[in-house]
Amino acid sequence: MPKSHHNYNIMIQLLIDKELTSKERDDLNTHLKDCAICQQQLEDVKAFTAAVRRAKPRIETPPDLRERVLTYMTAYRLKHTESEQMESGEAVHLPCD
Ligand SMILES: [Zn+2]
Repeated sequence: MPKSHHNYNIMIQLLIDKELTSKERDDLNTHLKDCAICQQQLEDVKAFTAAVRRAKPRIETPPDLRERVLTYMTAYRLKHTESEQMESGEAVHLPCD
């Protein structure tokens, strides 16, 4: 029983992401030879993926990682700003009395 186009669409995405085993790749390639719909799908996915990768190197960042990075960056920036002020000697005025 042949796989549905939906399954092959998933495999096409996995192929682009280099997540397919060589067996699965063969299976997909065999189907692609006979299926204009999936050939077109492959071209579409390739074009889309290339466009997205040009736009930003990483497509998805897990939300919790994103959160951690933002927290870290904010902390770093605060620390950095503070030390810059210390070095310049202008922004920090200690009370004298
Ligand atoms: Zn197909």
